[in-house]
Amino acid sequence: MSGTIVKVSGPLIVAEGMGDVQMYDVVHVSEKHLIGEVIELRGDKASIQVYEETAGLGPGEPVESTGFPLSVELAPGLIEGIFDGIQRPLDVIYKQAGDRITRGISVPKLNREKKWKFNPSVSVGDKVIGGDVIGTVQETPAVLHKIMLPPGKKGTIEWVFDGEATITEPIYKIKEENGTIDEYPMLQVWPVRRSRPYLEKLAPEEPMITGQRVIDALFPIAKGGVAAVPGPFGSGKTVIQHQLAKWADADIIVYVGCGERGNEMTDVLMEFPALKDPRTGLPLMKRTVLIANTSDMPVAAREASIYTGITIAEYFRDMGYKVAIMADSTSRWAEALREMSSRLEEMPGEEGYPAYLASRLAEFYERAGIVTCIGSEGRTGAVSAIGAVSPPGGDISEPVSQATLRIVKVFWCLSAALAYRRHFPAIDWLQSYSLYSDRLRTYYNASVAPDWSALVTKTMQILQEEAELEEIVRLVGIDALGFKDRITMECARSIREDFLHQNSFDEVDTYTSLEKQYAMLKLIITWYDKALLALEQHVHLDNLIEMPIREQIGRAKYIPEKEHKVKFAELFKDLDAAFTALTEEGDLDA
Ligand code: ADP
Repeated sequence: MSGTIVKVSGPLIVAEGMGDVQMYDVVHVSEKHLIGEVIELRGDKASIQVYEETAGLGPGEPVESTGFPLSVELAPGLIEGIFDGIQRPLDVIYKQAGDRITRGISVPKLNREKKWKFNPSVSVGDKVIGGDVIGTVQETPAVLHKIMLPPGKKGTIEWVFDGEATITEPIYKIKEENGTIDEYPMLQVWPVRRSRPYLEKLAPEEPMITGQRVIDALFPIAKGGVAAVPGPFGSGKTVIQHQLAKWADADIIVYVGCGERGNEMTDVLMEFPALKDPRTGLPLMKRTVLIANTSDMPVAAREASIYTGITIAEYFRDMGYKVAIMADSTSRWAEALREMSSRLEEMPGEEGYPAYLASRLAEFYERAGIVTCIGSEGRTGAVSAIGAVSPPGGDISEPVSQATLRIVKVFWCLSAALAYRRHFPAIDWLQSYSLYSDRLRTYYNASVAPDWSALVTKTMQILQEEAELEEIVRLVGIDALGFKDRITMECARSIREDFLHQNSFDEVDTYTSLEKQYAMLKLIITWYDKALLALEQHVHLDNLIEMPIREQIGRAKYIPEKEHKVKFAELFKDLDAAFTALTEEGDLDA
């Protein structure tokens, strides 16, 4: 199947004589063998997005179809990998081609030479179906890679290998019902634009715990949930992503970076490998797959990268793992979509984005979820997706932000104003939301404390009240507020400074367990309730505001996890005692 180029327009080429190809087939363009993908078919004319620089190409050059859709390779070797948008390993490319990536470079996606110790977990005669684990490879100290029978296959194990093998050597044979015997290597290939099958999508009922208080307590994300975070420059987007990668309760991290400027991605490539995994003490890369599009790569590769990323995420989900995928930023991805659309001369929608922007975004986020995996074991696996958006000028009324917000269930609104005030994480508590809060209530109330959600509701109310009161203060001054409102303002300040503010760089503060989060919040709200009561008993406002125990509440975040039970019990006792002392004095005054 081969055609001829009739037009070249940046990363898009049009070729004729392509009657036999399918949508999304991978093609080789010109003698240089540039990699492209068919994205539109009209008669025998195919529009092809080319994942490499097309300068110098011209009409008349050949286009050869491979007959296969754009796919990823799934096997040991993914973890610790750093790939481009079409899964070419960056280190190998750089080694072969130097800093400037030459075109048409052909490298295997995963290492073909490396031998992995394969430990079978089936025996001859066992009946297996797609998704069943045939054996395991300890890919890194942090990841046990499960080798699964590919989806849709079934039969009886005829032979299974025990020992070291490369990913392409056969390691088991299966006899199908009709008697044919097939051999399989570790390697599976899967088209990136097709989601991997599962048995059943489950309702998200557990939070993905992050140890970040503003997230877990106020705006939680479910395991298998979807969230968006906008990232105005300097608002702490990078720090929050690193915190999530390090601390989120996920087994595998897939990070897809679409950088705007070259150096943004260089930062990721430098910083990510330097992160340490708090669980194991090993580099975080030991359970991470990085996909990086630097700006010197054509836009088209960006478009493919999020599908490459989510397919890899689904593959690890199929093993029964909890996977977190972060895409940064989906705005850069959408710009690639816009550029390709305009070159296809499609009718532009809002701000030049194609009309299918929203549905494409949805196709990505819909592949997240918590599922019962295929296979007879009934494993549960989850992909949680967090997409960063970088709206120009931080204005989220633009199409990509709006389309994203209609799909995701959690919005962590990073605010430049909060970052400027050095309130970190700069997640705006009035703008952000989580539509999972109601669903997760049962989990929190059952596994942390029965009054968890009541406490959180009250916290949110106090913060909202503060915003209204601030308005009044701005207009007429603090003296216009009644005592009760002053206490509310004080409590809100405590919630903000003592609870929501969390220093990622402090050894203790960087992560807070749900139990400690509860104790911290409970302490603050108990002070509030008792202060209101004390007011009624004529305790003087200043005495309440200046209670020394409040300073201890402020330092409670630095109580190490190991000591928190004892220390918080003491704090609650001291709080009681302090109020008893005050109200006794108050009674005397009266
Ligand atoms: P962005 O990626 O949005 O440009 P960064 O994530 O690099 O911003 O954050 C900018 C700076 O803000 C960091 O260098 C750090 O000093 C500070 N910062 C951000 N988040 C936190 C946090 N949770 N705790 C302490 N400092 C933070």
